[in-house]
Amino acid sequence: MIAGAVAGRGQTLDLWGGPVVDCHHHLRRTAEANIVHLDGCGVSNAMMLARENSVDQIHEIEQKFPGRLLGWFASTDITKPEAEAQLTKAIKNGAIGLGEIKFHVEAAGPELRRMYALAADLNVPILIHFQEVPHTLTEGVFSTGWKNFEAMLKAYPKTRFIGHADAFWANVSADYANDVAYPSGPIKRGGVTDKLLSDYANLFGDLSANSGNNALSRDPEFTAGFLKRHEAKLIFGSDCACTDGKGGGISQAGNPAASRLAGKCVARETLGLLKRTVGPDAFRKVTWENAHRVYRLKG
Ligand SMILES: [Zn+2]
Ligand SMILES: [Zn+2]
Repeated sequence: MIAGAVAGRGQTLDLWGGPVVDCHHHLRRTAEANIVHLDGCGVSNAMMLARENSVDQIHEIEQKFPGRLLGWFASTDITKPEAEAQLTKAIKNGAIGLGEIKFHVEAAGPELRRMYALAADLNVPILIHFQEVPHTLTEGVFSTGWKNFEAMLKAYPKTRFIGHADAFWANVSADYANDVAYPSGPIKRGGVTDKLLSDYANLFGDLSANSGNNALSRDPEFTAGFLKRHEAKLIFGSDCACTDGKGGGISQAGNPAASRLAGKCVARETLGLLKRTVGPDAFRKVTWENAHRVYRLKG
């Protein structure tokens, strides 16, 4: 068991040399299923992403597995007029952030602008999925226009933005043309995401999913510099869908473009990559300290 974590099942492996919080863990169908994934990949704690009406399930996890859950974010359909009231209620009920926000709208459009303002009013972070290329014929795109997001960072200086997903990560490279979901090959320095993370104190990066893992796997020399430059602004998460924390089940369901991680646990893959690339201080920042500071986690 990991020091500093209360493992409800007492089976968490100390794979990573200390406690780790997965900040992109989508709430699973049963309380136990959440813990099976955490235990299987040696992750001591989770910050969960849930619907705004999930407070009962959250409380069940807190009661059955004390200490494992360090907070939760709430999401709802932001195109509906009641979205602000619902999310405000979720924050009153204990949620500590808004997200994952993933809808078919423009990043600078009215629906998301309302959410940026709400996050500032409620003084909570907002986690956004940016994607310009559909993974399937019917999927569509989400929060489009990442390349022009600087205007939003300027317009909402009090909002803590957490960037995530394909377009956020593909744009670490300056030559990304919104053409493929997960570009490969060496990274051209000076990408929009790298620049905005450097220039704006209110932007942070969520390392989760194939998008984050892919971006950090393309060019080891770039990755080492990128992690060093932004070690205070990056937050570990997995977004893994495997059942057992070892790649079991269908780990990349509905996303054929992410087949490079099929049969693997994204948490294990990305934690391994981080461990190989940065020293223990930076590892602790991106897997524990940054989330505690930026998300104001308890515990
Ligand atoms: Zn996402
Ligand atoms: Zn997994």
